[in-house]
Amino acid sequence: MTTETSDTQQRDILLTAVNTAVTYLLQAEVDQFGSALWHSMGVLAEAVDADRVRLWQNHRINGKLYCTQLYEWSEGAEPSQGTKIAINVSYDDDLPGWEETLTKNECINKIVREMPGNKRFASQGILSLLIVPVFLRNEFWGFVGFNDCHRERLFTANEESILRSASLLITNALLRNVMTQELTAALDKASAANQAKSQFLSSMSHEIRTPINAIVGMTMIGKSASGIEKKDYAFEKIEIASTHLLGVINDVLDMSKIEANKFELSNVEFDFETMIKKVVSVIAFRINEKELNFKLRLDPDIPKKMIGDDQRLAQIITNLLSNAVKFTPKSGSVSMSVQFTKDKNNTCTIQVKVTDTGIGISPDQQERLFSSFEQAENDTTRKYGGTGLGLAISKRIVELMNGDIWIESELGAGATFIFTAKLGYIPDEESTPVFEKHTENARMLVVDDDPDTLEFFEVLARRMNLVCDTAVGSREALEMLDRDIPYDICFIDLHIPVMDGIELAGTIMTIWDTKPVIIIISARDWNSIEQDAKAAGVRGFLLKPLFASDVMECISNYIAAKNNTEPGIRELSTSPQSDVSDVHEQAESFPERRILLAEDVDINREIVLTLLEPTGITIDCAVNGSEAVRIISAAPQLYDLIFMDVQMPVMDGLEATRRIRAITENLPRQIPIIAMTANVFKEDVDRCMDAGMNDHIGKPIDYNEMLAMLKKYLQP
Ligand code: ADP
Repeated sequence: MTTETSDTQQRDILLTAVNTAVTYLLQAEVDQFGSALWHSMGVLAEAVDADRVRLWQNHRINGKLYCTQLYEWSEGAEPSQGTKIAINVSYDDDLPGWEETLTKNECINKIVREMPGNKRFASQGILSLLIVPVFLRNEFWGFVGFNDCHRERLFTANEESILRSASLLITNALLRNVMTQELTAALDKASAANQAKSQFLSSMSHEIRTPINAIVGMTMIGKSASGIEKKDYAFEKIEIASTHLLGVINDVLDMSKIEANKFELSNVEFDFETMIKKVVSVIAFRINEKELNFKLRLDPDIPKKMIGDDQRLAQIITNLLSNAVKFTPKSGSVSMSVQFTKDKNNTCTIQVKVTDTGIGISPDQQERLFSSFEQAENDTTRKYGGTGLGLAISKRIVELMNGDIWIESELGAGATFIFTAKLGYIPDEESTPVFEKHTENARMLVVDDDPDTLEFFEVLARRMNLVCDTAVGSREALEMLDRDIPYDICFIDLHIPVMDGIELAGTIMTIWDTKPVIIIISARDWNSIEQDAKAAGVRGFLLKPLFASDVMECISNYIAAKNNTEPGIRELSTSPQSDVSDVHEQAESFPERRILLAEDVDINREIVLTLLEPTGITIDCAVNGSEAVRIISAAPQLYDLIFMDVQMPVMDGLEATRRIRAITENLPRQIPIIAMTANVFKEDVDRCMDAGMNDHIGKPIDYNEMLAMLKKYLQP
């Protein structure tokens, strides 16, 4: 055989091998690529009689070039052993001269014995090696090494040139496979996201349609109803549905803020107890409706004034409480406690714990619940409603407050949600404390079969410097009274053993010479017992859960009344909640005050005009910013305040404010301008302030908030 024929034969053998190797790679499914690669490397190795083939990829660490072995085929090995990885082999330190040769796209074709620094290879039994550089997009990507462990030789020019193409093909196939894997993963992710979005849209559609349906339906019923009672009923339902709708929309907005990383907290001074009271008053209705037993325990050390984002804190607590109420069957129990721990520099940690006796959550569902749109069971929406956003939002807020949120629960055995948050506080010595000390040595008696309530009164009495005796039922109470030391005030629970609270009150008032002030405490039922209670001599009523400030106010009122010649305790309202009808009764009157309302939407103007009618304020209207500027420039001193919508045609509220500020710059008194807008995010509020406004009210308008603004800016 001539050299030429053997050359041609060798070429043919090699080309056939490359062909087979490439076919393996091209036909391989993504998940079988590893095995196909192993076989192709093997075919090539056999064709050139090599014992080992290795594929290496370059990378840089701190500017220095390294290579890492990705794949290996070796004679007699199993495919599963095909990946013995050597990591971060340095060209400079371990492969001297290689970088220089390979970057020139030249092969290294050597007998190991003749190579300087050959220990590395000799120790692996390598006698000859061929290193083929791989260039991708004109860059030195890595190399393929062919080792001969049984003879010393140089690889032929044929072998070199064909293995060069083969190496490039293998590397390309490998990269294509990586890309396919990445694409498949991205596709999976996208379709999962897509599915989550579709599911979200479907639950959103349900969540939004349900209240809208109620609003539309009840509007029709209300319109055609003849009696005022039916109309009132429709209005009530419309109010509930619209409040719910607003909640859903707020959740969605919060979530999109969170996803866009634009969620920020405000940092204001607030009254902690008032915040909790508001939350409880919002939930109270549902608690009563489901006849749940609700208990609240606030750490008596909680300072009156805290610093943080009270609205967001209230949002988390409302979410946890409403979930607890939602997932607890009728007559179950829900309790909440708040623990206070002082940290350094007037900062503190609060721990809020909400426990219920409801349906509970299995451990494997628990972690998921803090992700968006997740609910424990697939049929949760159908059974209980909800978007699955509340806990995800709560978690994000808690994290921004440097706290943590977690669940302790078992399926069917109720749930406890606990979260911590770091807040600032003002020590009570520097503000008005929750507990005022009294020196009058008043004596009080508390009758309740709930030990927590008795403890609550005892702590409060100690802090107020009052004498406090407690009894767990009417019999014990009457025994205490037999001791003949007169009490000034008695707090009696409505439901106590033996006699009920009202009977006990009646007995006390008849058998006792010095008549104490009797206050009934109860979680519900005041309306139905009011007449009997008054007849028995009860003077006031306090709604449970009890708040220290309410009890204190009650005691202080009594002591003030006792010291006055005209005794009499203010009758306490049955519920801290107020609706618009009684708000109207409380409305302050501001006669002779004139305000300008800049608002482009007719119905919004009408709402403000109607709501403010009882205040006696004269209201002029502008339908856009430009008209507002014109009215103010014509009579800069005429108006006491401006309510300014932000998004208006012709000229928006921000520009109008800037112009009004410029016109009235030299006036002795600056007109307060209050933004009244549906843009309620922090940066929207900041933008209003930057334009020169004084305050901000969100839309839909909260009547109480509007009244508070009027009080703040219109009262001298
Ligand atoms: P939503 O209540 O709107 O569905 P949340 O994020 O507030 O959204 O709650 C997510 C899910 O967590 C609920 O759908 C429910 O499956 C579960 N969950 C939350 N709180 C409780 C609880 N107290 N008891 C049982 N399951 C709860």
